[in-house]
Amino acid sequence: MAYELEQQTAVKAVLLAAQLCQQVRQTIRPEAIEKKDRSPVTVADYGSQAMICRLLAEVFPQDLIVAEEDAAALSQPEMAPYLAQVCDHLRQMMPDATPELVTGWINQGNGQVAPRYWTLDPIDGTKGFLRGEQYAVALALVEAGEVKLGVLACPAFAASPEASADPDSGSLFVAVRGQGATVAAIQGANLGEALPAQVVQPNDPANFRFVESVESGHGDHAQQEAVAQAVGIKTDSIRMDSQAKYAAVASGQAALYLRLPSPKTPDYREKIWDHAAGVIVVEEAGGKVTDMRGKPLDFGRDYRLLDNQGVVVSNGSCHEAAIAALASLSR
Ligand code: AMP
Ligand code: MG
Repeated sequence: MAYELEQQTAVKAVLLAAQLCQQVRQTIRPEAIEKKDRSPVTVADYGSQAMICRLLAEVFPQDLIVAEEDAAALSQPEMAPYLAQVCDHLRQMMPDATPELVTGWINQGNGQVAPRYWTLDPIDGTKGFLRGEQYAVALALVEAGEVKLGVLACPAFAASPEASADPDSGSLFVAVRGQGATVAAIQGANLGEALPAQVVQPNDPANFRFVESVESGHGDHAQQEAVAQAVGIKTDSIRMDSQAKYAAVASGQAALYLRLPSPKTPDYREKIWDHAAGVIVVEEAGGKVTDMRGKPLDFGRDYRLLDNQGVVVSNGSCHEAAIAALASLSR
């Protein structure tokens, strides 16, 4: 099978990183550090990135990694206590972790978009992580601008009603281009049986719902509501942080995920690590992803999706109606 070593390595790395994030969330009340752009980052973001970049670089030393974080701020003298915490968490899984090695592993994520590269969001939805709600660890492999492999861990997302009874049960989604998408329950460092992930079918009105961000600054709640109504969705949105929204579409819990430019930041360009893994998981589960004008997302140019605005994710069958509704609402 194509991408077998990539898949094995990515699954192992993402599972260990998700376990580290859950440990940070369970042991202490995680503390947010403010980044230059004023968004929060935690020791778990850095630990997750260090873990994944290290494991990828061991197996694929030639590959570039474009990840969200870098170690510049963490290397400042006043940040030493945080760096020590990152090392403490990593040492439980990687006994050789030292501050010098850990900052080096984190900085392996400073790569550029290339003909073949990985993109990583070590914790997508840091605000959800801090609130005790949804977050994701998202890793994807891109070749020639197309996502080929995606591994998406959602440690607080139950993919089935049976699993939702267990508060510790998260879900791991894995997709390889042309080979479908699977979902398995995560329990600690173990995975349950992987089952096919499948979007909402057109004959399933009970799951004809839509998801959107919790943060009003990451979308346009009013416009999203209008589009959902135009395609015939009658229930209120489900709001959740992170690429768990892609997981909701890929597991048939929602038919649509709308992310329209926020009126507060109309010129914002989406980042590749916020979408790449989610996109392939939804596509391989039978769904569709485009920007708000119906154009495919272009992962081949830059760490930002320069030619795309807004993101529309669907089960496929309601996609055209959503794009048409957007065109008529913006007229
Ligand atoms: P979500 O959890 O879906 O609200 O999205 C979290 C992601 O939103 C973060 O990883 C940021 O990269 C991204 N983000 C930051 N600012 C904006 C913005 N103005 N519009 C859309 N997304 C944003
Ligand atoms: Mg993110």
